[in-house]
Amino acid sequence: MRDVLLILLLIPGLIAVGLWQQWPGSARVPSQFNPFAPFNVDDPLNAVTRFKLKTLDQDPQRCLSALARARTQGAIDYVEVGSPEIGACQLHDAVRVRSTSVRFSASFLASCPLALSWVVFERQRLQPAAREISGQDVARVDHVGSFACRNVYNRASGRRSEHATAEAFDVTGFRLQDGTRMTVSGHWRDEGAKGELLRRAFNGSCDVFGNSLGPEYNAAHRDHFHLGMRGYGLCR
Ligand SMILES: [Zn+2]
Repeated sequence: MRDVLLILLLIPGLIAVGLWQQWPGSARVPSQFNPFAPFNVDDPLNAVTRFKLKTLDQDPQRCLSALARARTQGAIDYVEVGSPEIGACQLHDAVRVRSTSVRFSASFLASCPLALSWVVFERQRLQPAAREISGQDVARVDHVGSFACRNVYNRASGRRSEHATAEAFDVTGFRLQDGTRMTVSGHWRDEGAKGELLRRAFNGSCDVFGNSLGPEYNAAHRDHFHLGMRGYGLCR
């Protein structure tokens, strides 16, 4: 329902920007306000950039081009893995993320929109929060994976998990440049800087991912943030 509403609201805006861009001699609309401009990971997050990010899953070529541009900027190192079938699960235009501005506890498979969303989250929410709260960057992200060929909550029947298509990433903790370590299981309710950074990071993730599920959601998420592509800003 929110998706439909958003699209209805965006249509007049799209038409206006389209007409503006056709007008001879008109100034260029900055790319974060121009739905037709290629997606850039440093475009400030607003309704237009979120819409662009959201629609990239319908357009693999545009997504992969945006990711390639992010690599040129030094924002991500990855290899394309194409669309392999792994077990009973089919990936589409996936990549293996090796590093970004952080190291990961292990490289991970990601759909192109997930990889791009992570980079946006890291640059526009995670690192700014880390700098503000601790005066330093996050150097390493600990996680328990992104791809698992299974249904939601491992049930024998029911719908496929977002993890079955590498469209969700489960983050368990962060390490700062000076080695300070914080985990979702150990510090979510911590009253000091560790807890503050974890909560700020989680809240920030809600501005980027389709859904963010954390320890407040249920016991299954007491030790990790599930950052997934389904939905539009579901945040629990
Ligand atoms: Zn998950």
